[in-house]
Amino acid sequence: MPKPRRSDVSPFLVMEILEEAERLQKEGIDIVHLEVGEPDFDTPACIVEAAARAMREGRTHYTHSLGIRELREAICEDYLKRYGVDVDPDRVLVTAGTSPALFMLYSVLLEAGDEVILSNPYYACYPNYVTFSEGVPVYVDVRESEGYQLRPEAIREKIGPRTRAIMINSPANPTGIVLSPEGMAEIARMGPMVVSDEIYHGLVYEGKEHSILEFTDRACVLNGFSKLYAMTGWRLGYVIAPLDVIRAMQKIHQNFFISANGFVQWGGVAALREAGPEAEKMRRTYAARRLAMLEGLRGLGFEIPHPPTGAFYVLVNARKYTSDSLSFAFDILRKAHVAVSPGIDFGSNAEGYLRFSYATSVERIAEGMERLKGYLATC
Ligand code: PMP
Repeated sequence: MPKPRRSDVSPFLVMEILEEAERLQKEGIDIVHLEVGEPDFDTPACIVEAAARAMREGRTHYTHSLGIRELREAICEDYLKRYGVDVDPDRVLVTAGTSPALFMLYSVLLEAGDEVILSNPYYACYPNYVTFSEGVPVYVDVRESEGYQLRPEAIREKIGPRTRAIMINSPANPTGIVLSPEGMAEIARMGPMVVSDEIYHGLVYEGKEHSILEFTDRACVLNGFSKLYAMTGWRLGYVIAPLDVIRAMQKIHQNFFISANGFVQWGGVAALREAGPEAEKMRRTYAARRLAMLEGLRGLGFEIPHPPTGAFYVLVNARKYTSDSLSFAFDILRKAHVAVSPGIDFGSNAEGYLRFSYATSVERIAEGMERLKGYLATC
């Protein structure tokens, strides 16, 4: 039998840890979840109500393949309000989550052999989107000692004739860093298309995040509702891109997905127009959890020279304990009953690191730290 063409996708290790944690839970074991990037909050009631109303009113049909006009307009209003950028709703494609948007984007951007510049560490799935479309990821190291900031000169060194895009993610998963506006402006001037994953926008605790669209229109923005509005299970995201890219993606969307879910899109309209105060309340709660997590990890003896200022993750150097973060994470899970993410999922530069998510309560964070204290004493 020939090898299936797309058989070399690496597993998403965070999900494998989560699935093992859930298996242990079924055996009656209490697990502290610090692995998964999923808000523990319920979706704000005004969003649930808007979707339920849409269902009751019979909005249960296919929608326009780009998404309902009202949601695309609400997205443009949101970008205007937050960043002062003027986006035409025709440049927006609504999808069932940011993930399929990334999938379709790279499938239209890349020819075989085209290169995409990514930071290392990176969000675990990025290289797979690129390689699945027969592209080649080219990595730029970001270092803990430099606060994980992407250095424009390091990017410039990697640009070559096959560079199709530079990908950025600010606030970033797994490092929690927020890129400086000066750095973003410089990246925008480099020439290749900038792909900017803005899914953690709104979740910043010091300073302010910027959209790449403030610096250039030659960019593709990915964003979604999973994180800021606690809507992971709804599956709703979008891409803002130049018209020719949107048209190419629209054709893929029409063929393979048809449209995003209709009533879910009405929930998205309510999220943008009505759920701002609820989102702000959640942001303030994460801000307090961030401090609890930093204090807890430092109390365990981990050094965090540049505390993250966005998203809800802390990437921690655990090299004094291990050079194999995957086995270490499974050992912590099985012995201490704390689920954490292995650094290796996020690239070779994060091997020997662990990613802790603070999208859970201060009490559970404290319980996790207590269990880890006992575990680490045995290492
Ligand atoms: N980008 C980043 C950086 C993420 O962390 C995630 C979720 N873990 C996604 C994209 C995908 O989000 P979704 O498909 O739920 O919109």
